[in-house]
Amino acid sequence: MLCHRTGYENGVDILQRKRLIKQKGSCKINGTCTAYIITKEMDGKINAHYSSTHFGHQLDVGLLPLSKDDKNLIVSKCKVHLKKIIVSQKLCYSQIRL
Ligand SMILES: [Zn+2]
Repeated sequence: MLCHRTGYENGVDILQRKRLIKQKGSCKINGTCTAYIITKEMDGKINAHYSSTHFGHQLDVGLLPLSKDDKNLIVSKCKVHLKKIIVSQKLCYSQIRL
């Protein structure tokens, strides 16, 4: 499996397009990134050969191809973390006032 940023933007003529152009643009880098992973299952074990070095783009969390469930999971974890920060700030402020 290649990095999801590998590939070219759809070169379809803007007047011939059936789908709207993404507002934030394509995540493709119009080239090939060097990151990949190849997995093979042997004797009940999974072997992986990979390169984790990306080339030709920055790591941008906003461009990750996440499922709706994964996005919802991240949002819920952020909400929990945010609540912890708010509670700790309230505790800190209450101690300052004492
Ligand atoms: Zn990459």
